[in-house]
Amino acid sequence: MAAELEQETTDLLQRLVRFDTVNPPGNERDAQEHLAALLRDAGFEIELVGRTEPRPNLVARLRGKADGPVLCLLSHVDTVLADPSEWQRDPWSGDVADGELWGRGAQDMKSQTAAEVAAAIDLARSGWRPAAGDLLVVVVADEETGGEEGAIWLCENHPDLVRCDYLLNEGAGTVFPFGDERLYGVCLAEKGVFRFTITTDGVAGHASMPKIGENALLKLLPLVERLGAGQPAYDITEPPRRLFEALGVPLDGDPAAALDALRERDPILGVLAEPMLGVTFAPTQISASQKINVIPSRAQLRVDCRTPPGMQEEQVRRRIGEVLGGEGYALDFFEKVVGNGSAADTPLFAAIEGWVAQEDPGARVVPTMLPAFTDSRTFRDAFSDCVAYGFFPQREMTLYETSPLIHSKDERIRVGDLGFAARCYRHVCKEILGV
Ligand SMILES: [Zn+2]
Repeated sequence: MAAELEQETTDLLQRLVRFDTVNPPGNERDAQEHLAALLRDAGFEIELVGRTEPRPNLVARLRGKADGPVLCLLSHVDTVLADPSEWQRDPWSGDVADGELWGRGAQDMKSQTAAEVAAAIDLARSGWRPAAGDLLVVVVADEETGGEEGAIWLCENHPDLVRCDYLLNEGAGTVFPFGDERLYGVCLAEKGVFRFTITTDGVAGHASMPKIGENALLKLLPLVERLGAGQPAYDITEPPRRLFEALGVPLDGDPAAALDALRERDPILGVLAEPMLGVTFAPTQISASQKINVIPSRAQLRVDCRTPPGMQEEQVRRRIGEVLGGEGYALDFFEKVVGNGSAADTPLFAAIEGWVAQEDPGARVVPTMLPAFTDSRTFRDAFSDCVAYGFFPQREMTLYETSPLIHSKDERIRVGDLGFAARCYRHVCKEILGV
């Protein structure tokens, strides 16, 4: 039975990879119709709804025998682009070689779509129905460019179709080593994005006489340095508190010391975990004079700033001020998304822990936080009680092997991990919805 589920998941992923759903333009319809037919045959009620005809979102519902919680298995079926000349194999081949399935979307995230759909179909075909509650399988379009036609559109226009109490999506789950331990992350929260511009003003003049003007770029450079070197106060939230505790380097009292201790034990994990502890600044773009021979009267720096879940603008301004000081520049935000998250003590977390204990005895499940955001944010915003986690388990490749493949060349996945993930979703459905 396990072998069959793995084979079904593999066949389905192969099929999904062969639909070119590079976004833009996405063109997800053919892939969605394929999934819809499979789910309909297995007994799901199907809705295909979208803002535009070529880009429907798929909502499949398996009704339970009584009222209860709604569990949603979420994924997106669009991908980023791929340049075939960089790849060792055609990015839309779906080739299986040496136990690996190749293609754009093999990690992000047609693999999870395949595992979620295969698990749902397997359950439904076996005659299983939720004892209490509904199982939803939701496959959205348009995640890679922001979700305006996907999750955002769906939650705004059809909230009753996709309202849910528990949600599983992308964001974590690939095993990572820590000492001689094996850890699986469950993504509980996602950082916010507060991108801003720093502007300095001066006085223009001819560059042949540098002292004649007041060079705005020279005023800006110390600020760039401060953003690189400065450390705003930490803002510790629940996921890193629990993660650092689980890693044996509790944050209580002195986050800097805990971080140092972690770095000593595992330098890579130190780099990955540090952004969870507070606001981060990455200056990425700078501009000044348009002309080589004119002293700039204005210089601008754009900064990609990421913030802990829940943090509002006023607090972000305070943290920026701690690093830059309060004067000599103007600050403007041009993109603001407040970070979001879900609680850790839930039946969904317990269901995942139970499954890991069964499939990979001795391994541990730890909470993590993503420094970026996914469609989970949209569902948490739309349904305030929704517990949304990122979890797609893989164990044959570690996080350090899979991460570089995402949005990159030679994206691929171990076939054994497709079965592994599908078994996880099947288990979680039964735990949350009953048998
Ligand atoms: Zn994705």
